Parts: sequence; structure tokens; C-alpha cells
Amino acid sequence: MKRTHRVLQLESYRSPLVLRERRVPDPGPDQVRIRIEACGVCRTDLHVRDGELDEARLPIVLGHEIVGRVDAVGPVSERTMPDASQPADDTGPALRVGDRVGVPWLGWTCGACAFCRRDEENLCDRAVFTGYHRDGGYAEYTIAESAYCFPVPDTMDPTHAAPLLCAGLIGYRAYRLARHSLRGFDGAGEAPSLRLGLYGFGAAAHILAQVAIHDGHEVYAFTRPGDGAGQEFAKELGAAWAGDSTATPPSPLDAALLFAPVGSLVPTALRAIRKGGSVICAGIHMSEIPAFPYAILWEERTVRSVANLTRRDGTHFFEKIATIPVRTEVETFPLEQADEALERLRSGALRGAAVLVPGRTTD
Ligand SMILES: [Zn+2]
Ligand SMILES: [Zn+2]
Repeated sequence: MKRTHRVLQLESYRSPLVLRERRVPDPGPDQVRIRIEACGVCRTDLHVRDGELDEARLPIVLGHEIVGRVDAVGPVSERTMPDASQPADDTGPALRVGDRVGVPWLGWTCGACAFCRRDEENLCDRAVFTGYHRDGGYAEYTIAESAYCFPVPDTMDPTHAAPLLCAGLIGYRAYRLARHSLRGFDGAGEAPSLRLGLYGFGAAAHILAQVAIHDGHEVYAFTRPGDGAGQEFAKELGAAWAGDSTATPPSPLDAALLFAPVGSLVPTALRAIRKGGSVICAGIHMSEIPAFPYAILWEERTVRSVANLTRRDGTHFFEKIATIPVRTEVETFPLEQADEALERLRSGALRGAAVLVPGRTTD
């Protein structure tokens, strides 16, 4: 058993991450220690590093798309559930050494605030997020709360599973919200086949496109203007149409999901949706949204955001993808090259998702 491990930590904002050797941590009550096999690189990591969110305590280890093996299990405490109506699975899986798990952005919730009690733990007043409030997965080992880990099948390649933990999950939550908002005023059913616009065709959109197409919907992929490779990629995955984010789609969309952190896309997407349609902003941060005329919001169009995830989202999502042959496209990087992976993400020079593999070393 190793006594120290390598972590890549953020020590000051807008600066390169720093490689450090740290003592391997021990799991506390209801926690597990995980030997990390892969950790996806999410746009949120870039926002944290750039100081675009409320500033985290430093140093912090980024990364919240973690896949690894349970390596040690902490003592189990007698947890009293705050609310008897909470689902029985609220305590999470009973984990054993050797189990493969995934650790998402949602690291802990209080279980007691108004949001937790109404099954909106994604909005918990005291939520702790992985790789933001507590150390994440740009490391060889990490600690997680057992109840917030998801089981990841042994048959899955860890590098391909990693992007599912945030890009996949958040995309899926946005997709469900979009579908929910399209039901009529009295809850009438949505159309069997929807026209869904995905703005920003990266890690989240390339996973969601496969799920939506499998569900019988049409995907319209919007990329950075001139990104022919991105548009080609979307078509390979079955998109009905792919074009520049500034383009008008051939038919009005039922919903537009925004994965690019670009505020000017909000009015653009509002102009692309039909009456009663919705624009869902799926990122944690976005540049300022320019003023727009009321006429493009009129006729019951909506704009809303998606924040974080609930454990139930994760359970639904992993059940769902067990029935769909989702193929995640990944580019792997050794831990030391996390900054390069982040810059590639920023510039849009990635096909699919970037994933760090801590076991790999640079030559
Ligand atoms: Zn709470
Ligand atoms: Zn993320």
C-alpha cells in the first residue's frame, strides 16, 4: 500500500495546476477511499480554475468525473435519516473493497434543508461539491461519501465511463427538464418525436445526442461557426442536422439545450425554438446574456437553467444507459497534462471528452 500519492492541485486562480506528493488519506465514517482509474475533465473545472465561480478554498484538487476502485471503507455510522419519506436507497450502496464506483459533482447534501426535503438535493443550501469544496479526482486517490457514489459496471472501460459522471448526467438532467417543460399547461403529453437543438457539441452533447436519438428524437447540432469536424462528428452520431451556432435550423426546434458557456446563444436559441418551446442552459457559468426583445420570449417560450444533479438523476441515467449502446469518445491524458487538456477544452480542440489517467506517466 502506497503511503503517498500524486495530486494535481489548484493553488492560485488562473495559474497552472501544481503536482504535489501528499499522504494517502484515510476514509472517515460513511466514506470510502478510491484508487482512481480515470477522471474526466469538465468545463466546470476550467471555470473553477479561472476563478469564474465563487472562489473555492485553495488549494483544491479539481475533478468530479471520477471512476475507480474502492480501496478502503471507513466505519459505518448510525445515520438517522432526516425524513422517513426519503427513498430507502438514500444511504447508497453498501460498498466493499474492490467495487468499481463513480464519484460525481454532488459530493454531500444536508438532508435537512427545504430543498433536500422536497427532493431537490441538487439545490441543497449546504451542498458540498466534488473538486470544488472538497478534493476531487485529479489525483491517484480520493475520498468520497459512500452514499453519493454510483456503481459502475466492471465491464465498462473506466476512461469511457468517466465522462458519464458529469457530462452524461447533467446532459441527461437538462434533457429531462426540457421534455418536462414541453408538456402542455395541463400536463398533456409531449410529441413522440422532438426536435432538440444542442448548442456546443462537446462531451455532454455527444453523449446526450445518442440517448435522444435512441429515444426517437431528432438532434440538431450547433457548433462554433466553421467547426466542420464537430459538425461531421455530430452527423456520424446520427444528428439530423449540424451547422454553425449562428445558423437558423431548417425547422423550428421544440427545445434548445445550451452546453456552450456563451450568453449570446440565449437569444439566438430563443429565435430558433417554436412557440411554447424552451431554452435550457446546462452550464454552471455563462458569459453575460445580451438584452433581447420580449417578442422572442413571447408565446410561452421559456428560458431556464439546470443546476447540479440529484442521486436519483444518477440512478435513472445509469439504468437508462445500460439499455443503450452509448459510445463515449475520449482523448486520454496523463495527470501531468491536465492543463493541456483544459486548454484543449477551452479552444474546442477535442473530439468528445478529455479524460485523465493518473496511472499513466509521461515519458
Ligand atoms: Zn440540504
Ligand atoms: Zn462537470
